[in-house]
Amino acid sequence: MKPDPVLGVPQQAAPTGSPLLVVGSLALDTIETQSRRREEVLGGAACYASFAASFFAPVRLVGVVGSDFPSDHEALLRSRGIDLAGLELASGRTFRWAGRYAADFNNRTTLDTQLNVFETFRPKLPPAYADSAFVFLANIDPVLQSEVLGQVRRPRFVACDTMNFWIGGKRTELVRVLERVNMVLLNDEEARQLSGKDNLPAAANLIRAMGPSAVVIKRGDAGALFFCEEGVFAAPAFPLERVVDPTGAGDSFAGGCMGWLARTGDISPAGIRTALVVGSVLASFCVEDFSLDRFRSLDEAAIRARCAAFAELVRFEAIRF
Ligand code: AMP
Repeated sequence: MKPDPVLGVPQQAAPTGSPLLVVGSLALDTIETQSRRREEVLGGAACYASFAASFFAPVRLVGVVGSDFPSDHEALLRSRGIDLAGLELASGRTFRWAGRYAADFNNRTTLDTQLNVFETFRPKLPPAYADSAFVFLANIDPVLQSEVLGQVRRPRFVACDTMNFWIGGKRTELVRVLERVNMVLLNDEEARQLSGKDNLPAAANLIRAMGPSAVVIKRGDAGALFFCEEGVFAAPAFPLERVVDPTGAGDSFAGGCMGWLARTGDISPAGIRTALVVGSVLASFCVEDFSLDRFRSLDEAAIRARCAAFAELVRFEAIRF
């Protein structure tokens, strides 16, 4: 496998599987951790999700960037084979987000959100995207999530993400999206805010009643819980000694999971369990560096090795009592 001379990204054969359509934010993020600060680095929910998914399935990205979006960033996404025919270049400034992390990395304060080109963005899918079997509506205005869904013909499996910003500000529109998706991924605080329930299984039940048959509640380094009619599954976060920047972990988790589902086509509860482990593995790589930097050097061998370590992490003998 030869690294790209400019970007350092290992060049690999295009993955097989159904195409995965991803819509969401592409951003310039400013990140503050306790020890470091990075300004205007590549971020955005759709960037992380697309990049993570691109290891497993062909990805089609729908979003918007402004005229200030560095061409290197676009080249990086292209280098992973991500289809950018649905990426609009608008005049104006790219979406910007700034956040600060507490020492434990679990608490984050949003310092600034500038929608910029997203304020007037109306997604228009290239006609070839209408047949996308798998769709991931990453964190973005739920009105835009609905507009994208309206342009896809009978998708097989649709998942969406969201955040407090939209649960508080566009609840009715978000509920309309939830009625049309198979799976929703959100963090524990968001699940409580959306459902009004403190208890997570109770919150998941209430959210399932809104439409999605699968509800995934992310709990940072405590892992994720997957609720469906058949029961509940827990996917731990892979324990790491050194975390650099958790930004995008949730999106990489969702992207890895959706990429795996698109690759295997297995959307049964058992298939979703495996996909969530793959998501957890991709999230664990994401947090090892700022922005998408760890992904630049990531290859299939490293992903396979961590999947094996993950299996060891959760292995235990049958309990005889
Ligand atoms: P995560 O750490 O997985 O929750 O995602 C962080 C990413 O979400 C950052 O790269 C941000 O650019 C992006 N983001 C933050 N706020 C918003 C928002 N209101 N709408 C869309 N994307 C956002």
